[in-house]
Amino acid sequence: MANARDAFNQYRQLDGKAKANFLESIAKEIEALGQELIHTAMQETNLPEARLMGERGRTCNQLRQFADLLKEGSWVEARIDTAIPDRAPIPKPDLRKMLVPLGPVVVFGASNFPFAYSTAGGDTASALAAGCPVILKAHPAHPQTSNLVAGAIALAIKSCNLHPHIFQHVHGATFETGKALVQHPETKAVGFTGSFVGGKALYDYAHQRQEPIPVFSEMGSINPVIILPGAAKAKAEQIAEQYAASITLGVGQFCTNPGLMLGVKNSDLNALTASLSERMQKIAPGTMLHTGISKSFYSKRTHALKQQAVKLEAQSATDEPANMGVPTLATVSAKDFEKNPVLLEEVFGPYSLLVQADNIEELKKAVAAIPGQLTCTVIGDESELAQHYDLLQLIMDRAGRVIINGVPTGVEVCPAMHHGGPYPSTTDSRFTSVGTDAIKRFVRPVSFQNFPEELLPNELKNSNPLKIGRLVNGKWEQG
Ligand code: NAP
Repeated sequence: MANARDAFNQYRQLDGKAKANFLESIAKEIEALGQELIHTAMQETNLPEARLMGERGRTCNQLRQFADLLKEGSWVEARIDTAIPDRAPIPKPDLRKMLVPLGPVVVFGASNFPFAYSTAGGDTASALAAGCPVILKAHPAHPQTSNLVAGAIALAIKSCNLHPHIFQHVHGATFETGKALVQHPETKAVGFTGSFVGGKALYDYAHQRQEPIPVFSEMGSINPVIILPGAAKAKAEQIAEQYAASITLGVGQFCTNPGLMLGVKNSDLNALTASLSERMQKIAPGTMLHTGISKSFYSKRTHALKQQAVKLEAQSATDEPANMGVPTLATVSAKDFEKNPVLLEEVFGPYSLLVQADNIEELKKAVAAIPGQLTCTVIGDESELAQHYDLLQLIMDRAGRVIINGVPTGVEVCPAMHHGGPYPSTTDSRFTSVGTDAIKRFVRPVSFQNFPEELLPNELKNSNPLKIGRLVNGKWEQG
């Protein structure tokens, strides 16, 4: 951590172009690892080659998106209010504000995204883009994959002639390693993706410190999907097809997996349930990321299915094959759902619970019982969506991304993406962990009052040498 502090003192001085060059070099070094990286990750995670190739592309694309953001430069949100010395009754000082990096950031690699949310993933890319050194706690489920990517980052550091400790890579046999990193006084922020228990534990450690620090934990989410009656009537087959695929995509190991569906019980919903069941029964169990995840899937699935009035509707195998996830659909009435908080817990894997309400009012009451989520989806025709705008309002209060007539799986990496929702889906709903706005987690604003021009950062100088967009005396100045 002392090394990270030293690195910060150098790294924070770098201009946007130099940091962008560094991020682009990391992407190039990762690509240069070629098939060795893909094959190592296949062995360690059981994920198929095509998925890993796509994820590597996404990881390098994220790094390049942050590089472009840095080259453009306006992300620092420069604001300039020039002095009015003769203002009555008191003179107005010269004030200029911009975002500056927080300091060393500890990032925990995620098990379900060995590239895109691990060693050089979104948290690392956004912290490095912000100007923060990263200490990466490797996920124990893919240590060799993590070593290879850490090696690529080390090569990029060398080729860009940067401080060797801008990025450090740590393995740990017990939770003590992660705990010590979070509690270290030089740590200024934490990024995490994983379980609620893990994310909340790290958040608690950080808030017990003498100097509390922000922890951006992205934790469990059951991503509710509300199916309105008109849609169930008009396109039951299409919804069943879409959702059988979405629930089982990647053996259900996505934070946006639709773990909860809600509809109004009638013959149309029954037909949809029958079609969804039939389709899920035909999807073979898939190999999960590691034995810990499959054990946890079966123990959470068993616990959910044991709850009062929960009915097992469909499963594609009757046994519980080790290391595999069996596609599973369960149903429950809205009245029983509302009374039972266990049914709000994430069952991480190819599982979904369909809640059947007697009428639309009961459905809205069930939705009101749902806590914060990464996403919420409504499936309905135009007239019923307008008629039930209060339902849209209910889900907007609960989720970071609100979807109409789609599936929650598939998270686009772009500036308009918000991947983060109210607690307990994350520990800070104001920030995204996907897309370029993720940089905002690792910076803070500083106001410079009455600074002479030559001591101001380039972003705030009168001459605007970086040609960035700024708010000057209340008017937007184009970059
Ligand atoms: P995890 O158990 O939350 O662990 C992730 C990382 O956090 C690991 O590096 C782990 O440390 C660390 N950690 C967890 N608890 C800690 C504690 N009390 N103190 C210090 N460090 C701690 O996640 P996982 O291993 O990836 O999978 C377990 C479960 O997480 C899954 O079954 C699933 O329910 C959930 N999950 C959810 C998502 C999502 O996006 N919602 C994604 C992945 C997993 P160690 O390295 O020392 O073990």
